[in-house]
Amino acid sequence: MAKDIKKDNAEVSVEQKLTTLYKLQTILSEMDKIKTLRGELPLEVRDLEDEITGLNTRIEKIKNEIEELKQNVATRKIDIESAKASIEKYKAQQDNVRNNREYDVLTKEIEFQSLEVELNEKRIKEANASIKAKEEEIVKSQNVLEERSKDLEDKKNELNEIVAETKQEEEKLRESAKALESGIEPRLLQAFKRIRSNSRNGLGITYVQRGACGGCFNKIPAQRQLDIRMRKKIIVCEYCGRIMVDPELAGVVPAETEVKETKPRRSRLSASSAE
Ligand SMILES: [Zn+2]
Repeated sequence: MAKDIKKDNAEVSVEQKLTTLYKLQTILSEMDKIKTLRGELPLEVRDLEDEITGLNTRIEKIKNEIEELKQNVATRKIDIESAKASIEKYKAQQDNVRNNREYDVLTKEIEFQSLEVELNEKRIKEANASIKAKEEEIVKSQNVLEERSKDLEDKKNELNEIVAETKQEEEKLRESAKALESGIEPRLLQAFKRIRSNSRNGLGITYVQRGACGGCFNKIPAQRQLDIRMRKKIIVCEYCGRIMVDPELAGVVPAETEVKETKPRRSRLSASSAE
């Protein structure tokens, strides 16, 4: 239906205007869908990239902590060696003391150095335990990192595919939209686009569903529904401002019972002179 908008001088009928607008709406909705589809993937890719950066930073930080702990252990080992050397020295001196007082002083020193050795050994044990835990943490983080990197690769491929796929489709749709738009009078097109951009679901034109507006679902009075069916005037929803058409024009109801009874067929055939 309505395949000829090319009657140069003849007025375009309201019915044809509505049909063209509705087709345009369908194409624009299709384009919106593509944008939504693509709109989520880049976000997911970015989230994964952020997470991977975070994991790498975390692993790097743990590695530095391990390095610090290892240095600490090395220092304590040197301290232990020197304490042990002191103990040996004091023990040797004890063999050559001249009185008990000197002997006791050396005994105190030996005790003190022994405590130093014990304390350092305890700290080394703790540090080694901590190193082990941190190394396990690194392994865990690296496993997660590997998983996320794989996810990222998959998502990136998916995104690239969709972009490549939809690019063609989008271009085709854009061309069709342009062709349709050129057949719509500028004032009407502008109004349609304004309604569309003001509506949350991007619908500038919609059809009557169960006696209500298909955009805002407010009831449409019977007389108005009848006017819409007549396709003689451009009628907008009094609540949301969307342009209204009957379901048959929208191609939603396959010409069946009630439509055949109420709608005279001739209006379509003689559409060009209807305006
Ligand atoms: Zn409405």
